[in-house]
Amino acid sequence: MTARELILTHILRCSRADLYIKGLHLNETQQKIYDGIIRRIEAGEPLQYALGECEFMGHSLKVDSRVLIPRPETELLVEIIVETLQTSEIFKSSRVGLDIGVGSGNITIGLLRSLAPLHMTGLDVSMPALDLCRENLRRHDLEGSVNLIHGDVFVWLGQKYSDALKFSFMVSNPPYIKRANLELLPADVKREPVLALDGGEDGLNFYVHIISHVAHLLKPGGWIFFEIGEDQGKSLDNLLTMHGSFVNISIIKDYNQKDRFVKAQLIL
Ligand code: GLN
Repeated sequence: MTARELILTHILRCSRADLYIKGLHLNETQQKIYDGIIRRIEAGEPLQYALGECEFMGHSLKVDSRVLIPRPETELLVEIIVETLQTSEIFKSSRVGLDIGVGSGNITIGLLRSLAPLHMTGLDVSMPALDLCRENLRRHDLEGSVNLIHGDVFVWLGQKYSDALKFSFMVSNPPYIKRANLELLPADVKREPVLALDGGEDGLNFYVHIISHVAHLLKPGGWIFFEIGEDQGKSLDNLLTMHGSFVNISIIKDYNQKDRFVKAQLIL
């Protein structure tokens, strides 16, 4: 949809087809809302923030400057997880997942909608992001299926977990932009929380830390899934291989044929 169509379908709560078939148009109040949204976009805000919501896997999510805007590629990550877990032995006996950097809750909500029964734990260092995530869970009536934790992954992953509490999989779409490249990002992306983008000096900080600490949180045979930057596939492959406890390591491409996802399984 064009930006204009997105705004109109948002305000009129209708489908794109309705705009043309029913010839819907805005009344005075709606026109004011439209103009307000246009002003925000012209002032440099991303469209989704101006609308206050976005679609992820067909689910409508509230978004604003507290969280990263869910990207279409991330829908493919959820599909990869669903496909992998549905045919995985571990998922038959244990249906508990961990989402590191839960943000708006997009991945967690997508998974809960496709894989129920499932229980998720969502970790985020940003309290404002967790507040918004909670609103999205409420919107989808999923509060009872998710445990939200406010914590810094660099501290939190160091904890000891008893076997009973271990997860059958972990997913993360962590910040992965190299710090030096942050200032080169398009103006609208710069409006998104830097905490959700900054992956440190080489963009790999989160992957290095998570890979070296996640094994003791996973059940044997448990899976890890990451979204990655297009130039990070080789590094992730190396990190996982050198760790020594992961097998079935795959680097998976997105729709643009760029390396975008990684999955691997903890040895049994
Ligand atoms: N999990 C959210 C997403 O995938 C947020 C990720 C982040 O803040 N880096 O979009």
